[in-house]
Amino acid sequence: MTKHIFITGGVVSGLGKGITAASLAYLLKSRGYSVAMQKFDPYLNVDPGTMSPYQHGEVYVTDDGTETDLDLGHYERFAGVSCDRHSNYTSGKIYSSVIAREREGAYLGATVQMIPHITDEIKAAVRSAAKPGIDIVISEIGGTAGDIESLPFLEAIRQFKNEAGIGNAIVIHLTLVPYIKSVGEMKTKPSQQSVSILHSIGIFPDMLVCRTENPIEDEQRRKLSLFCNVPDEMVIEEQDVEHSIYEVPQELAERGMDAKVLKLLGLPVRDSKLDDWHWLLDRVLHPARKCRIAMVGKYAGLRDAYKSIFESFAHAGIALQAKVECDMLEAEELEQDCTKLEGYDGILVPGGFGVRGIAGKVAALRYAREHKIPCLGICLGMQCMVIEYARNVLGFADADSTEFNPDTAHPVIDFMPEQRGISAKGGTMRLGAYPCRLVDGSLAAKLYGKEEISERHRHRFEYNNDYKEKLVSAGLKVGGTSPDGNLVEMVELPEHPFYIGCQFHPEFKSRPFTPHPLFVGLIQAALNH
Ligand code: GLN
Repeated sequence: MTKHIFITGGVVSGLGKGITAASLAYLLKSRGYSVAMQKFDPYLNVDPGTMSPYQHGEVYVTDDGTETDLDLGHYERFAGVSCDRHSNYTSGKIYSSVIAREREGAYLGATVQMIPHITDEIKAAVRSAAKPGIDIVISEIGGTAGDIESLPFLEAIRQFKNEAGIGNAIVIHLTLVPYIKSVGEMKTKPSQQSVSILHSIGIFPDMLVCRTENPIEDEQRRKLSLFCNVPDEMVIEEQDVEHSIYEVPQELAERGMDAKVLKLLGLPVRDSKLDDWHWLLDRVLHPARKCRIAMVGKYAGLRDAYKSIFESFAHAGIALQAKVECDMLEAEELEQDCTKLEGYDGILVPGGFGVRGIAGKVAALRYAREHKIPCLGICLGMQCMVIEYARNVLGFADADSTEFNPDTAHPVIDFMPEQRGISAKGGTMRLGAYPCRLVDGSLAAKLYGKEEISERHRHRFEYNNDYKEKLVSAGLKVGGTSPDGNLVEMVELPEHPFYIGCQFHPEFKSRPFTPHPLFVGLIQAALNH
C-alpha cells in the first residue's frame, strides 16, 4: 500500500518547502523507496502558464507539456522523479473539473459543495499520484496555513489522513523560528500560532521542520514540542545552508529526518547510500576554476524567473569542476551600449515573451557574435539570434518576429504556416517534449553525441523556412530540425568558438548527475575563452 506524506507551510511563504520536499524524496529514494511527488497550489489560475514570472517565478514545463510551478523542477532535479499532469494541481484546475462535471449533470441533482465535492476531487488528485509500484507519495501544499485559499486543501488532507489510517499518511509542517536580534532570542511563538491554525481545522502535524538561522537550543525545542504537540524527536531543525541548496539533503540526513519519517510511516529504515551526493556536494563546494556568464534577460532582479537556467549552470559546473558566476543584465540597458558585456566569458539569452528588451537582446547577440564570446540562445534567445543575423548580416533592417512587428517586411520568425492568420494566444503554444534530429557534422550533434534528441518546448513562434536558404548560405547553419525537417529547432555559427541557439528549453532537462550538453558546451567554451 502506498504511504502518503503531506507537507504544509506556516508563518511566511518562501521557506523552501519545495527544496525540503525534494530533499526528503531524495533521501527516501536513497533508502530504496520509490517516491512520487506532487504540488497543490491554492491560486485560481488553472495552471501557472498565464502568470507573469514576477508573480510566480519560472513556469516549469514537463515532458507531457504541462505548465507547472517551479517547485516541480526541484522535484525532477533533486529527487530524480518524473513529473506529469498529475503532479501539479491548482485550485483553478480542481474547481474547473468539478464545475465541468456539474454542467454535464454528473452529480445527479446534488447540491455541489466545497465538502464533499471539492475535497473529493483533491483526494482523487492525491490518489492519482499513487501509481502501482510507488511506495511513498509526497504532496506539497503551496501557500501558508491560515490562507483562505488553502482551506479546502487542508480539509482534504484532514479527511485523507483519517481515511488512510494510522501510519499511512503523515503531515510535516514547515515553519520559521526567527531570531530576534534586539532580545537576542529565537522565538517559537509564530510556529505555535501556525500549528494552532492547523489544530483548529483538525490537522495534527506529525513532524515540525523548523527553518532557522541559528541552531535551535534545547529550551526552544522543548517549547516547540510542548506547544505544537509534537514529540521532541520530531522537531527537526533546518538551519540555513551556508553555500548551496545542494547542502540541504545532507543537513536533513544528519538530523535523521528520513529515518524518522520512515518510523512514522511504519516502514523499515533501510541503509542509505549517499556517496553520490557527497561527491556532488564536494564538487559544488570546491570548484577548481571559474567563469563569468552574463544572462541578458528581462527580469534581472528576479532569479526565480530563471531558476532552471541557474540550476543548469550549477550542473555544468559540477561536471567541469568550475564555479559558474552568472550576472543578470537587464536587456533594456544594453540597447544603446553593450560595454557592460566586457569581461564576461559567456553570454546566455533566455526565453521570454513580449517586445520589451528585444533590442537589447539583439544588441547583446551581435556583440557576442562579433567579439566571438561563447553564446547560447534559448527559445526567444534563438529567435533573436535569427533576427540579429537577418538584420546585420543579410541587411534586412526591419527583420523581426511577427510577435513584435506583425507588419514587418521580413518576418524571419513567424507562426507555423498552418497557424498564420489565426489570431493566436490561448492554447496555441507548442508545449512539452518533441523529437529533434541533429544535422550530421554540426556542433549540436557533436555536443549531444547522438542523432536524435527529445527536448521540451514552450513557444508559439517558429523559424520561418522562407528565409532558410538565405540565412544558411550567409553562415547561420541549421543544427537540428524536427524529424520531418519542417521546423528548424537549432541554429549555429561554425565560424564562431561557440554560438548556438535552440528553439526548445534545455534547462528543463538538466540534472545534477546528467548535466545538459548545451550548458556543458557553453561553460567549457567560456572556460576556454
Ligand atoms: N515568445 C516566443 C514565442 O512565443 C518565445 C517563447 C519562449 O522563449 N519561451 O515563440
